[in-house]
Amino acid sequence: MANQDELFKKITSHCKEYGFIFQSSEIYDGLSATYDYGPYGVILKNNIKQYWWKSMVQMHENIVGIDAAIFMHPTTWKASGHVDAFNDPMVDNKDSKKRYRADVLIENYRDKIEAKINKEITKAKKRFGDAFDEEQFRATNPRVLANAEKMENISKRLATAMTHGDMEDLKAQIEEYGIACPDSGSKNWTEVRQFNLMFSTQLGAIAGEAGKLYLRPETAQGIFVNFLNVQKTTRQKLPFGIAQIGKAFRNEIVARQFIFRMREFEQMEMQFFVKPGEQKKWYEYWKDVRLKWHQALHNSENLRYHDHDNLAHYADAAVDIEFNFPFGFKELEGIHSRTDFDLSSHEKHSGKKLQYFDPEMNDNYVPYVVETSIGCDRMFLATISHAYTEEMVPDAKGGEAQRIVLKLNPALAPIKCAVLPLLKNKPELTEKARTIFNHLKMHFDCQYDEKDAIGRRYRRQDAIGTPYCITVDFDTLEDDTVTIRERDSLQQERISIDKIAEIVKKRTDITQLFV
Ligand code: ATP
Repeated sequence: MANQDELFKKITSHCKEYGFIFQSSEIYDGLSATYDYGPYGVILKNNIKQYWWKSMVQMHENIVGIDAAIFMHPTTWKASGHVDAFNDPMVDNKDSKKRYRADVLIENYRDKIEAKINKEITKAKKRFGDAFDEEQFRATNPRVLANAEKMENISKRLATAMTHGDMEDLKAQIEEYGIACPDSGSKNWTEVRQFNLMFSTQLGAIAGEAGKLYLRPETAQGIFVNFLNVQKTTRQKLPFGIAQIGKAFRNEIVARQFIFRMREFEQMEMQFFVKPGEQKKWYEYWKDVRLKWHQALHNSENLRYHDHDNLAHYADAAVDIEFNFPFGFKELEGIHSRTDFDLSSHEKHSGKKLQYFDPEMNDNYVPYVVETSIGCDRMFLATISHAYTEEMVPDAKGGEAQRIVLKLNPALAPIKCAVLPLLKNKPELTEKARTIFNHLKMHFDCQYDEKDAIGRRYRRQDAIGTPYCITVDFDTLEDDTVTIRERDSLQQERISIDKIAEIVKKRTDITQLFV
């Protein structure tokens, strides 16, 4: 774990040092859990959004996009259940004055038991070597079995307390498990209280409750209230989906893991409207499609499904796709079967029909909804954590040197290609390199760099994940060829100038990710 903590710190400082992410309002000592994306961060984030948007909207004839306002009529949040039920259980430690989410304290306690099981398995693997059968070991080792049972009981009790909003039992669990404040070790806790996560503000000059507005805590509601507008104007038939990318705001109780949990963040959500009774089929379909979307970028062993233990008030099935972040497996995306809860509730609160006329059945009904919801910032963190690599590579003197390289998928890399004249003080080289750069920049994000020795320039490009470096040397002046260096293999090829754009475009094209 210490190594993983160390790794996470390195990734965080790399993001800052190389212009991916800065703390918001840093000159005023920052604002907690809010971040700004820097020059490379914004391109990487846009590329992630593009990958999502194209996979969902461009690749599905029956999915269309919208961009709804952040502010919505306040009744929206009454109808959606957010005013009454969008709470997290909060608990304070009286000695350290630190605030925590009660459910997260309990989950972390359970994770420690899981870590014990994993330690036991690692030890046994070492002892038995090739003959080790993990499945059998899990099913028979008494210590593993006892801990697994413990974990299951904790999960079940936590889920029940969360489903019923039983704050007293959450407090009782914290006490029974002897959970201490991670900061001070103190077990002196306050009662557990519900805390609403929505930020509110005031509309124009209207004072009091009448002018109270919320910053949307999810983008989904903008889609639900526009369901009929979109369906009628695009003449879509069920099943069809509406996709949206946009900001969401949550007054998170604890927000400590860099961009994993922010108070202002971005979501990429898609609501898929289906005939009642068909939700199970589409839920399975989207579970599969969304996992494949992640697998196109990340190794399968870093991804897993996690079924929800306690279902939200609107859901009849829900699963998370978890990613193996440097701090362990955590939710990256949620797939929820939301029934007809949202549309029916908006019908009730607005007095307007939100029904679909089914021409085959010659009848109207409220569709069911399967949603896929992913945090763009969490996807960014997953991508950069997966890409961050420290490795030894041959250096110019025949020895070895360490390099830090972001092995980003070329389709997501912020800069696709850098053009580097071999020497800075040779105008014939720099002019030629500039001409090449001016041509390439019309095709993709590209950089020109002439400062420092060529090796250092390669390292700078490695650190921001540039997949290709083009070197212009004296041979270029003779035969119009350049060296193209590939970031991961370090292989160099000689190619003609008029082929650069085609080669780089082909190898960095986003279409290769589509599944
Ligand atoms: P968590 O359990 O981690 O609080 P959640 O279950 O409340 O997340 P959802 O409401 O399902 O999350 O939101 C969908 C997605 O939005 C999440 O999978 C996550 O990627 C992203 N997300 C939610 N809250 C935050 C946040 N505070 N900061 C960044 N991303 C977030």
